Parts: sequence; C-alpha cells; structure tokens
Amino acid sequence: MVLDKPRQPLQLRDVPKPKPGRGQLLVRVSACAVCRTDLHVVEGELPNSKLPLIPGHQIVGRVEELGTDIYPQSATPTLGREHAKNFGVRNPQFKIGDRVGIPWLGWTDGECAYCQSNRENLCDRARFTGYTIDGGYAEFTVADARFCFPLPDGYNDVEVAPLLCAGLIGYRSYRKTGGARRLGIYGFGNAAHLIAQIALFEGRELFVFTRPGDTARQQDAKKLGALWAGGSDEMPPEKLDAAIVFASVGRLVPIALRALAKGGIVVCGGIHMSGIPSFPYTDLWEERIITSVAPRIPVKTKTQTFPLEEANVALDRFRAGELTATAVLTIGQ
Ligand SMILES: [Zn+2]
Ligand SMILES: [Zn+2]
Repeated sequence: MVLDKPRQPLQLRDVPKPKPGRGQLLVRVSACAVCRTDLHVVEGELPNSKLPLIPGHQIVGRVEELGTDIYPQSATPTLGREHAKNFGVRNPQFKIGDRVGIPWLGWTDGECAYCQSNRENLCDRARFTGYTIDGGYAEFTVADARFCFPLPDGYNDVEVAPLLCAGLIGYRSYRKTGGARRLGIYGFGNAAHLIAQIALFEGRELFVFTRPGDTARQQDAKKLGALWAGGSDEMPPEKLDAAIVFASVGRLVPIALRALAKGGIVVCGGIHMSGIPSFPYTDLWEERIITSVAPRIPVKTKTQTFPLEEANVALDRFRAGELTATAVLTIGQ
C-alpha cells in the first residue's frame, strides 16, 4: 500500500520486490501493526517523509534473502546489541527463514556525537522505517540487519507486532519516570495500556487521564488496577511524582505539569505532538522537569487484524477513535 501524497488514501499497487543492499535483509512481511505515527505520516504532519512511501514500522516477517556483509560485529551499534540482549540473543546473526522484528529506527550514521556516545536513538542523521524509508504495509521490505531483532517465541506474529513501537516507546517513557510512586498517564491507548500493566506489576499507584467524558476507557483503566481514572480536565486526588503524556496533544503538557508534586517529571511519550502552549514559570519551578523520549528498548497485546488491502479502513477507524485494540495488517496469511 503506497502513499503518493499526504492526506490521500493509500493506493494498492504492485511494486518491484526490493533488493537487499549491503548489510540488509529482505523480509517477507507477515504482519504490520498500525501506529498513531502512521496517521501523522499519512496526514503530512511529520515533515519531509519519503514519497511515494510505503508506511508501517511495526513489522514482523521472515528473512527471505541476505544482503552482503550482514554481520560485521564491530559495526553493530549498541542499540542492535541491546535489542538482542533484551531478547536473550547475544549477537543477532540472521539466516534465511528467521523471524525478525523491524522497528521505527531503521538506520543511523554511526559517527555523530550521539552515535559515538551509545545514544544511536538520537542520531542526527537517523532514518525511520515507514517514514523516511519504506516500511511494512507490503509483502516484502528490506531492512538494515543491525536494527532488526529476533522475536520471543511466546508471541505469534500478530501479537508481537504492536510491541515493536508501542512497547518500545512506552517502556522508554516509563524508565524515564525513575522510581515514581504516583504515576499519571495522559491518554490510554496502546502504549499506555502496555506500560500500565508494568507499572502496576511494579507496585506503582496509577492515575489515568482520558478524554473528558470517556467513561468507558476510564472504567477500563480502573478494571486494570488504576487507583483513579478521570478526564484530562480534572486534577488527580493527590499530586503526582511523574506523568507520561502518551496523547499527541501538546496542550496536555502544562496540564500534566500542574498535577505534579515538587521535583516531579513530565515525560512526553509521542513521536509527534501538537504545539505546547506557554505556561507560567512557577509551574516548572521547584525542580519539575519536562522531557521526551526516542524509543530504545523493548517489553499482553490486544489486537484487531485487517488484511493488507484494507489498510485505509484500519487508518480511518483509528483516526475516528473506533478501534478498541491495536490494528495489525496481516499479509499473505
Ligand atoms: Zn509507532
Ligand atoms: Zn549518528
């Protein structure tokens, strides 16, 4: 499915099978989860996307062909090593037929100050899957082997796909909240849902903020174990030690800041967010912090599948807020 121009439906089209270049894998895609960032890309809210573009950056598939020079281990960025470690593999040495996951971060230069200090996720010249390089709304894709990772056996292709982005970004946001006891979450979508489960497991007190009036989602949050759930226009019953803003709404940042206790932190957990309005300095005073994330490390997912040709239907339902689970496109199944 191809995006020719922003704000137009994707086109179902036959395109030549890509060829794996140096260090790349050719992957036969079996599932690709749909992320809110895909909507932002399709709607042109993220600037300078590749065009025409195949979107999708939560890709699960099997290695079909290897490019040349796949494993110069010394050149494997820390990030690749870290992904591999998280999945219990020391050095990912892919072979034909292996199941792999392909995430948002698709390529880094390995030379800028960030790459040299083990922070490839902040690379100045980074390229992103399904945004500045073609992604997984397709039967085949090519990906830099250093950023692909093996996937745990406990999940099938559809279940594991949403972990590749929502899981990565959510986990990174959560880690930024340190040892916060009272944790607020603004926006209770896929990433939030995954992180809420971890936070509760680790004994945090969870406060969930949804769109005002979305009582169904507030009930969901309470059922999951949140101490309190309400609208984003409400103040929590207690001041929070940390808040994660998963909604892509910048207006929520000063609101979350006002809900913090002294020394608290607001983590913006979106790849894209609308502008943040100004707020009085006193709201930031007393060592409060606002920060953001770039996904780095991986973490039960709820999914709803659509065949690849129905990518536009999945995107439309997502846009309209009609999905109750992560949409996953299935390809050739
Ligand atoms: Zn995503
Ligand atoms: Zn770099």
